[in-house]
Amino acid sequence: MKRIIPIVSVLLIVLLHVSGQSNNSSNFSNGFKVIPLGVKGGLDESNLSAYLVAANGSDQYICLDAGTIYKGLELAAANQLFKSANPNSIQQQQINGYFISHAHLDHTAGLIMNSPNDNAKNLYGLASVLDVFKKNYFTWSAWANFGNEGEAPILKKYTYKTLVPTTEIAIDNTGLFVTPFVLSHVKPYESTAFLVRNQNSYLLYLGDTGADKVEQSEQLAALWKAVAPLVMNNQLKGLFIEVSFDNSVPEKALFGHLTPNLLMEEMNKLNQLSNGQLKNTQLYVTHLKPCNGCEIKIKSEIQTANQIGLKISYPSQATLIELK
Ligand SMILES: [Zn+2]
Ligand SMILES: [Zn+2]
Repeated sequence: MKRIIPIVSVLLIVLLHVSGQSNNSSNFSNGFKVIPLGVKGGLDESNLSAYLVAANGSDQYICLDAGTIYKGLELAAANQLFKSANPNSIQQQQINGYFISHAHLDHTAGLIMNSPNDNAKNLYGLASVLDVFKKNYFTWSAWANFGNEGEAPILKKYTYKTLVPTTEIAIDNTGLFVTPFVLSHVKPYESTAFLVRNQNSYLLYLGDTGADKVEQSEQLAALWKAVAPLVMNNQLKGLFIEVSFDNSVPEKALFGHLTPNLLMEEMNKLNQLSNGQLKNTQLYVTHLKPCNGCEIKIKSEIQTANQIGLKISYPSQATLIELK
């Protein structure tokens, strides 16, 4: 017996390990697919920040921010990015949870408006972000309480999952893992960056954020320090970061956002921490705030400021991004 017990326990450990892997990631390949459901930072309510992310080889997504849901799914379905053509059934069957960077309406309206047609799932955010849903949005005066806490009666469609900064969690059914980092979006108001992992590849999505020097903050410095090793190892496949205004907007009028020059100041810091390897990571600039000629101006200012030759592009609503 004494000899058998260690063999049995080794077998058990091996079996547990194998079954744990098959639950998560064994069928998926490295890298990500991203379907932007909305990309802009304002005005056009049919195209506001929301990004579906899945492991390559999987059709089970998480949704990073949720400004626009229905219209983005409808357009993506028309582009044949899903098996179903019905936005409601895609939302119900292929979105496994929402990660909300902060509670501003341009990041939450699609989730709130489509909540009656959604099915039960988790709503992930920092405590400060989830508080706004509990106290303001999912109340009987603003809408209905689809949450699992707050004002009675409680409909319990969404289960609040409070994220702990820098602590990775696993997302069932997707093979993905997410680590949140706090951002400053007009101090002391918090926003969030989500570092998404599939096996040993990573994607970084930042919600709205100001630059450290404008915010008098060190949140971006801490984030760059955390991800620089991933850049150096060529594991960070994509970085999604905002630029809301052009360079002519004065710092006091930025309201916790970046300009082309501030973006490149921050990217230069990350590049230096990464031994000049940031050119290996594909950058996507998000959240441009529309105005007459703004998009063209912002893009040309970014091109001018990008003197270190980073790969920079712009996500487009309902257009698949493949990161390998
Ligand atoms: Zn925003
Ligand atoms: Zn915001």
